[in-house]
Amino acid sequence: MKKLLLAAVSLVVLLAAIVIIRTLMFTPPEHEATNTITHAPDADVLAGHLAEAIQFPTISRQDPDAGDVAAFDGFIAWFEATYPAAHTAMNRTLIADHTILLEWRGRDTSARPVLLTAHYDVVPVIPGTEDQWEQPPYAGIIADGYVWGRGALDDKGAIIAMMEAATMLLERGFQPQQTVYFSFGHDEEIGGRVGAASVVEYLRERDIQLAWSLDEGSFVLDGLIPGLDKPVAMINVAEKGYVTIDIVASATGGHSSMPPGDTAVTTLAAALVKLRDAPVPGGLDGVSGEAYSSLARHMPFTQRMAFANQWLFGGMIEGMLTRLPAGNAMLRTTTAPTMLSASIKENVLPITATATVNFRLHPRDTVDSVVAHVENAIGADNIEVIARRGNNASPVASTTSAGFEAMVAATHAVFGEVAIAPGLTVAGTDSKHYALVADDAYRFHPFVLGPDDITTIHGTNEKVSIANLVYATDFYIELLSSLERYTAP
Ligand SMILES: [Zn+2]
Repeated sequence: MKKLLLAAVSLVVLLAAIVIIRTLMFTPPEHEATNTITHAPDADVLAGHLAEAIQFPTISRQDPDAGDVAAFDGFIAWFEATYPAAHTAMNRTLIADHTILLEWRGRDTSARPVLLTAHYDVVPVIPGTEDQWEQPPYAGIIADGYVWGRGALDDKGAIIAMMEAATMLLERGFQPQQTVYFSFGHDEEIGGRVGAASVVEYLRERDIQLAWSLDEGSFVLDGLIPGLDKPVAMINVAEKGYVTIDIVASATGGHSSMPPGDTAVTTLAAALVKLRDAPVPGGLDGVSGEAYSSLARHMPFTQRMAFANQWLFGGMIEGMLTRLPAGNAMLRTTTAPTMLSASIKENVLPITATATVNFRLHPRDTVDSVVAHVENAIGADNIEVIARRGNNASPVASTTSAGFEAMVAATHAVFGEVAIAPGLTVAGTDSKHYALVADDAYRFHPFVLGPDDITTIHGTNEKVSIANLVYATDFYIELLSSLERYTAP
């Protein structure tokens, strides 16, 4: 008996030792200690240029014919006049009339080029909310250390920072190691099917495969990740796919005064409950696990212990993350019923009842596998599952590539001791196109954003701090001037 107790105690001690040792070893990767550098871009020039760019109401509307072509033409003319050095040193091509592509020849034309991209179209201001803006959305007002207006964060600010970085490098007589492309899209907010897609076509026709591309999709997040007391640079390595599915229940119909026990509506309701109870399976594998593991290395002991010992605590972690909408979206393909329709009249039983359900696809799933999951989960004869147009998630970019390393180094150089993690963009960007011609497509803007900033994207009072424009310019200068050190073998 004594021996048995001793064995049990030894086992517990051993387990505890393993858990603790693994936790102590679970630390962030080392990086060269840096004092945060700045190339001292002129903050007034940055703010002034962005303020001017915002004054072109380059709004993407769902109906492309409703767009204000003059605003797009005006922006392109302004862009050319504002960045003369870049237009002298680089070849400019207008793709599909309005997407700007700049080619900056590298010293080594045999090396795979890289692409920095952003878009200058913006979403409309929701009619009726204009009064809620502290500064008018298209006036380009500079106040309180911010440049205000639609497109400041999404996504004209990045264009201004990229072009200022290129201009400063050109002033130093710099030529990049490999060829650098800048692509500034005009229809990202409606899918990039004309702009970014045509750039991809253009590159393909010339047999150009990019080493990597860098687009919008995430930021340096400050105070947005629970349990982390330092900012996190989320360099997103993939974006989720998208499919909308109509679930259609059928029945005989008739007068509502003598209804049968089940109607199209109750059949549909039962199907939706089944779907809620059968979420698409998810987990901490792949990009989701890599993201959380990178973050957890910077967290307090308890969280580190859990993530360092997923063999013991994996189930518990998944359960906790699943209960948080943001955590759940990282772990799996999400299921969101959004629209319902049935009878046309209150006293007529419907012949069909339809629920529209929007899914955001995790990279491990495909449109077909999600449709199959829905059919299995519902499994009824009088229900049809009809997929509308959809697209799979993007490929997952490498976190060990030369490009990723260069971005990590530039991030530490500019922002110092921040946590860096690969992430998953849950919305769509032009990179779904660029990933077709890039070995690795990344999504990250070097702006530090807090909870109040994030909500202004596509929302009211969109603005970017001038400090962020300076950070971003520094970041792009660091990134472009380090290409030599971070070139794929
Ligand atoms: Zn955007």
